[in-house]
Amino acid sequence: MSRNLRGHVLATPPTSSALRLAIIGGGFTGAVLCIHAVPASTGPLDITVLEPRAELGRGVAYSTRDHSHRINVPSDRLDIAAGESGAATAWLYARGVLPDPACEDETGAYVPRAAYGSYIGAVLAQTLATSSDRVRLHHLRTTAQEVQAVDGAWMIVTRSGERITADRVALCFGHATPARPCRLGPGVAESRRFVADPWAAHALAGIGPDTSVLVVGTGLTMADVVTSLDAGGHRGPITAISRRGLLPKAHGIFRMDLDVVGAQPPRTALDLLRLVRREVAAIDPALGWHPVVDSLRVALPDLWSGLPAAEKRRVVQRLLPFWEVHRFRIAPQIEAALTRARAEGRLTVERAAVTGLDLGPDGRLEAELRPSRGETERRRFDAVVLCTGPERDVTRNPLVAALIADGTASLDAVGLGLAVDRLSRVLDATGRPRPGLYAFGPMTRGSFGEMTGAPDIAHHIETTVGGLLAN
Ligand SMILES: Cc1cc2nc3c(=O)[nH]c(=O)nc-3n(C[C@H](O)[C@H](O)[C@H](O)COP(=O)(O)OP(=O)(O)OC[C@H]3O[C@@H](n4cnc5c(N)ncnc54)[C@H](O)[C@@H]3O)c2cc1C
Repeated sequence: MSRNLRGHVLATPPTSSALRLAIIGGGFTGAVLCIHAVPASTGPLDITVLEPRAELGRGVAYSTRDHSHRINVPSDRLDIAAGESGAATAWLYARGVLPDPACEDETGAYVPRAAYGSYIGAVLAQTLATSSDRVRLHHLRTTAQEVQAVDGAWMIVTRSGERITADRVALCFGHATPARPCRLGPGVAESRRFVADPWAAHALAGIGPDTSVLVVGTGLTMADVVTSLDAGGHRGPITAISRRGLLPKAHGIFRMDLDVVGAQPPRTALDLLRLVRREVAAIDPALGWHPVVDSLRVALPDLWSGLPAAEKRRVVQRLLPFWEVHRFRIAPQIEAALTRARAEGRLTVERAAVTGLDLGPDGRLEAELRPSRGETERRRFDAVVLCTGPERDVTRNPLVAALIADGTASLDAVGLGLAVDRLSRVLDATGRPRPGLYAFGPMTRGSFGEMTGAPDIAHHIETTVGGLLAN
């Protein structure tokens, strides 16, 4: 069945000579792939997007309806295409999202993530509308369960039993649901006081205004949860824990044009660390460290491909947590909310790991906490929210596990996702690219060193989509 974005049946059937592109996952990555594939293609194009969510373009990050969840990138850096400078900001003004003093400061406008999701959906709809004579898009609200090579093409078997044949398949299924970080005692998983998925709709609805909350994780998801609780009138004590107690940093000056790597890129994790320290020490203090990190991010795909596998693993094990808090920063409004909550004593951040959760006799949750120094202790909270971020072990996704088991795909050198080449072609068990099979988005970050932020994903897709359509 042929449907448009809102599920209406489309009038014209797909052309038989059309290139058949199947996209598994219709979050930000899948939608942006459509947005770039349409203008990059010259002939008829028949796109099938498999995505259980009702709207394309939102995925995990932009499905939130909570307006205190902001995108951490100023709107003038959110354009999907390089040649459309200011398009996202202009759309936000045209739709009345901006101006909004609550979103803006001197570094730019940090809009609710929901608004950015609406923008992606609008751009996709507009892109399809202007190419409706040669491009069809079918949104199948289901999940892919199998992907197999069949007679020079690909066949996808869906959960609802359809079989879809495609010339190209793009794996865009993004973030895996967080794994449980510790032992859960009887009844904990069923308790309304235990929030395993903070991104689910109304996830925090069961948390009362004066209750004590343990937040497991101190990264961007913790920031979402604390600002949501704050906006909902929560005034009880919040304890946020992680092994290192690192909080995402605030923004500074935006510059990504420094030559931080030079002629001799580092070949070890230690050399990489030394390089960053050297550049931060040498930079004009008026600029701060931010331009070093952002410029290094631009150089990362080249630098990463030159590191031996053992050194890449060392980077992931030793440096990644520090890189992430400097690279994935928080919007100024969120930073202000966290600072205020800490100053008022409502939020405390501790270095500890949670090793178990049990239901106490009073129905509260008893957490077994192992501090970075000192003895394991048990403490009671009215609610516990898991904010450990997306699952790192991608093989927990059954589709990834199946692709690896039959040798169609392989894991990258650091085990963060699927191995792909610079053109995003999936590499099989022998390390060769599989014709017609591509992967985009966060699950390829182990191959590129970085592929999580929306601007990075959009830029990569824009520069590689031509190869996908041509080969
Ligand atoms: C909470 C959060 C906040 C973020 N905030 C920012 C930010 O402020 N700024 C920034 O630059 N970046 C941010 N990011 C990162 C970024 O934008 C994401 O990396 C990006 O949205 C990735 O989108 P995606 O489509 O690849 O993955 P996802 O959003 O995970 O979407 C994947 C989609 O695939 C579908 N799917 C999964 N498996 C299957 C299957 N087998 N068959 C069919 N469909 C399937 C899912 O339903 C889902 O909708 C954030 C990420 C998260 C998670």
